[in-house]
Amino acid sequence: MKNIAIVGGGLAGLVSGIQLAKKGVPCAIFERKDYPINRVCGEYISNETLSFLKQNNLYPENFNPPQISFLQLSSVSGHSATMLLDLGGFGISRYAFDHFLYKKAVEAGVKIHTNTEVLDVVYNNTKFNIELESSTHSANLVIGTFGKRSRLDTQLRRKHLTRRSPYVGIKYHVKSNHPENVIALHNFSGGYCGVVNVENGITNICYLVHRDVVRRFKNISEMEKHVLFKNPNLEKLFKEAVFTDNKPLVINEISFATKGPVEHHMLLAGDAAGMITPLCGNGMAMAIRSGKLISEISFKFCEDKITRDKLETDYRKAWSKLFSQRLMLGRIVQKLFGNSFTSDFAVKLMLHSSSIAQLIVRNTHGKPF
Ligand SMILES: Cc1cc2nc3c(=O)[nH]c(=O)nc-3n(C[C@H](O)[C@H](O)[C@H](O)COP(=O)(O)OP(=O)(O)OC[C@H]3O[C@@H](n4cnc5c(N)ncnc54)[C@H](O)[C@@H]3O)c2cc1C
Repeated sequence: MKNIAIVGGGLAGLVSGIQLAKKGVPCAIFERKDYPINRVCGEYISNETLSFLKQNNLYPENFNPPQISFLQLSSVSGHSATMLLDLGGFGISRYAFDHFLYKKAVEAGVKIHTNTEVLDVVYNNTKFNIELESSTHSANLVIGTFGKRSRLDTQLRRKHLTRRSPYVGIKYHVKSNHPENVIALHNFSGGYCGVVNVENGITNICYLVHRDVVRRFKNISEMEKHVLFKNPNLEKLFKEAVFTDNKPLVINEISFATKGPVEHHMLLAGDAAGMITPLCGNGMAMAIRSGKLISEISFKFCEDKITRDKLETDYRKAWSKLFSQRLMLGRIVQKLFGNSFTSDFAVKLMLHSSSIAQLIVRNTHGKPF
């Protein structure tokens, strides 16, 4: 059996590792941080993942994740509409979920190297050398699940890096009266904010904002007062919530540019292959789905049933079929957000043409798998 190295232990990396190890493939994950890991994420997972997670004993039942079946959308001025979600989802913090999957991966026999950053990956005709700070690891196949932004993108000179991304992501965990079964998306000028309940009565408030808006203020709290609070829904939420974190988690340079699923013979999954705009609430489901897909196709290669050429061609095709259209639609829908006129239009669409709104939501999501 050929061996596999996985770079990055987020959802895509952990799911690929677990599925491959269960089939007997020798598998190592290199993760630059240590678990549990806090991440900037809305923490709403679409139910398209549910049967896969349950069948594979990967659903985090013990955390009793809140079940979400309604979407509330509000415009910059605070007009709001609510609709029933076809599939719905559940809320769980990445701190809990990634740690839970990490333990499942260890149980399945994946060798996980935490606090280990991969500095470079070099392919030499049959094998890969994975360069670490003080050693080199070798593998027959490398799966890249290093997320939205990694030093490996620079090392591999990936094209999307030539365009700078203007988005900043900010997240808090708070205590609030946000209803258990609702995911809310509140617009403000220059961005939008998702609100979801996760385990243990915690509410996740996570927003995406254009960096030009951030630069106009001396700190984040001033920006929130002068920009986010113009939407009365956000003002009420922030004023009534009890903030348990001292400081929010912040990340810069979030890119939704087209990337691609194969690079220097490395197969990529999750955000490393392409990131969907967060308003779709589908990035985690896509990471899990691509982890499943990549493990199925790579297994055939590890068993010597297909060549490397066929592996790369098959994966490219299957990945595009599953994700290309969703990524493109996500970029289009994002244009309706963060602007007074278009966000009012989106709310009116939900109020008066709920079937069109349902269709858009359905098309930014995949089918249950
Ligand atoms: C503001 C915001 C809100 C979002 N809200 C939602 C939501 O509500 N629902 C949803 O489904 N999705 C949401 N998403 C998207 C979701 O967070 C991602 O799609 C998902 O985390 C992708 O998983 P991944 O495994 O590809 O990457 P990640 O979870 O980012 O994991 C990548 C891992 O690779 C590691 N790594 C990177 N480089 C290296 C290296 N060189 N060596 C070793 N390790 C490395 C990192 O430390 C990290 O642990 C949101 C995203 C943002 C930015």
